[in-house]
Amino acid sequence: MSKTLFERIVAREIPAQIVFEDDFVCAFRDINAQAPTHVLIVPKKPIPRIAEASPDDHKLLGHLLLKAAEVAAKLGLKENGYRLVINNGSDGGETVPHLHCHILGGRHLQWPPG
Ligand code: AMP
Repeated sequence: MSKTLFERIVAREIPAQIVFEDDFVCAFRDINAQAPTHVLIVPKKPIPRIAEASPDDHKLLGHLLLKAAEVAAKLGLKENGYRLVINNGSDGGETVPHLHCHILGGRHLQWPPG
């Protein structure tokens, strides 16, 4: 199967501003930022979306969330807060079929989302 867009970013085949990486996840700045800080954190394993994660992925998914919080803190968002978003499927607004968690912060975010 061909690589996903985010696999190609992880492989450095497409340029991105990577802000954190370990053996399991990679975080990079969103190309179309919706907030002063907008970073995507993705598992290196190309799970298409959260609905297709399996029970075997539970450690990876926990790691992804813990690292999302670490990255948010590293980017200075801990004190004022931030939002983590996972879009799933077309009604959820998912456009890239590789599981990713948005880290959004640096301004007050409205609720509910549009
Ligand atoms: P979603 O709509 O939840 O699937 O989010 C996909 C996100 O990927 C969007 O916020 C896009 O702006 C972002 N995106 C698409 N292409 C790139 C890229 N080459 N580098 C960084 N972010 C990207």
